[in-house]
Order: sequence, then C-alpha cells, then structure tokens
Amino acid sequence: MVTVLKFGGTSVGSAANMRRVAEIITARKATVTVLSAMSGTTDALMSICAAARRGDQREQIAETVAALRAKYTECINDLLRDRQAAMELLHGALDKIGDAAAWYRSEVSEKLLIAQGELLTSAIFTMLLREAGHDAVLLHAPDFMVKTADGRVDMQAIQKKLSAAVNPAGNTLYITQGFVCTDAAGNIDNLGRGGSDYSAALIGAALGAGCVEIWTDIDGMHNNDPRYVSNTFPIRRMSFDEAAELAYFGAKILHPAAIQPCKDRGIPVLLKNTLDPSAEGTTICDVKEPDGATFHAVAAKDGITVVRIYSTRMLMAYGFLRQVFEVFERYRTPIDMITTSEVAVSLTIDDESHIAQIVGELQEFGTIEVERENTIVCVVGNMEHSTSGVAADILASVAQIPIKMISYGASHQSMAMLIATQHKRPFLQNLNDHLFPLAHA
Ligand code: ASP
Ligand code: MG
Repeated sequence: MVTVLKFGGTSVGSAANMRRVAEIITARKATVTVLSAMSGTTDALMSICAAARRGDQREQIAETVAALRAKYTECINDLLRDRQAAMELLHGALDKIGDAAAWYRSEVSEKLLIAQGELLTSAIFTMLLREAGHDAVLLHAPDFMVKTADGRVDMQAIQKKLSAAVNPAGNTLYITQGFVCTDAAGNIDNLGRGGSDYSAALIGAALGAGCVEIWTDIDGMHNNDPRYVSNTFPIRRMSFDEAAELAYFGAKILHPAAIQPCKDRGIPVLLKNTLDPSAEGTTICDVKEPDGATFHAVAAKDGITVVRIYSTRMLMAYGFLRQVFEVFERYRTPIDMITTSEVAVSLTIDDESHIAQIVGELQEFGTIEVERENTIVCVVGNMEHSTSGVAADILASVAQIPIKMISYGASHQSMAMLIATQHKRPFLQNLNDHLFPLAHA
C-alpha cells in the first residue's frame, strides 16, 4: 500500500524533531514523505522579499539571512556526521538570498526565493536518512508538481510524472518538498501558504495511496480551538465534508484544499502528532455510520469584513444578486457567507485588497456599509433538514452575545454565524460548554 506522510514546520523544526520524523517514516514504511520548511523559515523568506521589494533594506535582509544561517547550521551540526555537502548547499542558497540587489527582479524571483526553505529542509533530511543507511531518494517537487496556464494544478501531468519517478514496490524512502511547484511557464511557483498539506493530498491522489497522513504538533483536529477554549477534545472520525468546512472556517491544522483530492478518490486522511506518535489522532474519511452526536466541532475564522448593500432596487427584482456577485468576481474576491432580505444583502469577504474598488462599484446599487474585525464561527454536525431544535440549541447557548449574520441550511452539516471578533472567546467557550457534554465527561 502506498502511504504519503507530510510533516509540518514544527515537525521538522529542530534536529531532535527531524530524528523523530525519521523514526516515524521508517517505522511506517512511508512511500513518499512530504516536508514543509523548518518552522519560521517561510515567514523569514517572505520578510526578505518584502524588504527587497521596498528597496534599500540591506541591513534587515542581512540580519534575517544571518538568523536563518544560524538556525540551519545548528541543525546540520546536530544531525549529520558528514556536513560538508549540507553546509555547501546552505551557504550557496543563503549567499544568493542575501544579495538581494542581484536577485530581486520580480515575483518570479520571489517565488524561487521562498521555495528555498522546503528545498533545504528536504535535502538535509534526506542526508540524515542516507547516513542512517536508508535507501532515500530526494524528489525535486517542481519536476512533477506542475500547474496549468490558468494557475490550477495539472493533475494528469502530476500523475504521469510521479508514477514514472516512484517505485512503491521497493524499500526506497522518497522525500520531497511540500508547497513548491512549477507554473505553466516553467518557473518555480508555490501552492500558497500552508500549501504542503495540499501537496501531500495531490501526491497521494496521483499515486492512488491507501492513506495520506498529515503530521503536526497536536493530537488531531479538536472539537473547538484549544487556543481559546478550555476542555476541547480530539475528534476521532469525521467526514470529508465536515473536515473541509472546519478547515475552511479556521481550523488551522489542515489546509482546506487538501481535502478534495483525497475525497475524490476515497483516500482517508489521518491527522497525527509527531510529538506523540502513538496518540490516535483524527481520521477523515467517508463516515458511513453516524456516531449519534448532533454536534461534532466548531471552528472560527478571523479577519472577516462584512459588506452590506441596502437597495430599494432589489425589491421584487431579478438579476440583482448576479450583478452584485459580478462585482466581486471582477476583483477576484471570494465571498464566504451571504444573507439576504428583500431590500438588503450582506456578504463577507476575507480578502480586502480590492475593497475600495468593490465598494465604489456597489454604490451604484444603493447604500453600502463596511464593517471590519469580524469572525465567522462555524458549527458542524448532523444537521439534517428534517431534524428540529439544532439551530435553536446553537443559538440558545450563545444567547447573550450579539450575532450579526446567520447562515443555516446551505448544507446538511453546518451552521455559520458572524460575530464581532471581540466576542470570539466567550462565544466559542459557550458553544463548547453547551453543545459538547463530552468535553466535561
Ligand atoms: N512552508 C510553507 C508555509 O509556511 C508551506 C507549509 O508549511 O505548508 O506556508
Ligand atoms: Mg500547516
């Protein structure tokens, strides 16, 4: 059985953790191991790009490069007996990055630069495996992870290239980079922040894997955000659709795009903890039998802006919503939540880059209000439209807190509410206390 294991930034964030990863993948006989960059690297590289873009920021760039050099050198020293090749690689990459005046040209050079974290981390890790006597092969992700001209992943090409490169029958451990890919013009590109999960899902789908495992530093997906709420617990099993909603609405443990490729092919996704490999974690699959619980989990997504349109033209008119949506489409701004009445429509977005233009165009329809600093809270569970009392239970548990928008009935498994971010902590805690008796068992 082909298995694809992906390890996030903290899982490879130190020499000690990299050793744990080596133990896990050899014990699990992972076919392909997908690695993120050591924690903090991508942020650091992006700050270098931002500094270079602003112009003369030599000192700041030099400082960040020095910090990366120290971090990776320490890791290499701790991890490898023969360090020469790794150090050459490290210095080669960082010397080039430090010389921003020479490399900074455009977005193309920025993408090449922010790929270096994954490229370095995976190379060092492969050296560790080889020193330990394993047959380890480093696959260069840009060679197979390719995009089409319209910026989507090219599944057919990925499948063809990967199956030619990977022989799942032997004992070879294939190591590769998450996040990085190649665009249609052949330049290095990436799958967006947190995109390593997506890489793993695509690789699993391309190779027809028996499972895809996402290893992080927490014991699976929790029923609520443990950073804000006490008494949360890991969910053992959940459906692809629930996981997709939770990931999309703020559960940081998994990139939302990572669900679809596995769902399409029925490949279970396991969420596991590198720091506690024996913990059960969460299995995301086609859950056939309902577990009897009405509520499964809550997730929250901050940084939400509401755009409210009051328009008398909407009264009894058709085609109005289409015109409104077209404005957002023109500015490539996705809409998350929507509620409508006969004279008003409220929409939420999380990307404000074109808000000024969007509002400018919407003003043609009527009065526009924009409110920032909101949070979408999404409750998932069994919400079949034939059951009664589900929405009432949810609303009763947060009756003391103002709610700005409610979306219920779009699917059979979720209800979303919009609140001011300042109310997030008590809102989540109240939901947890009332909807999850298990949390207090
Ligand atoms: N290193 C990339 C990031 O920090 C990709 C990933 O970790 O998934 O966004
Ligand atoms: Mg991640």
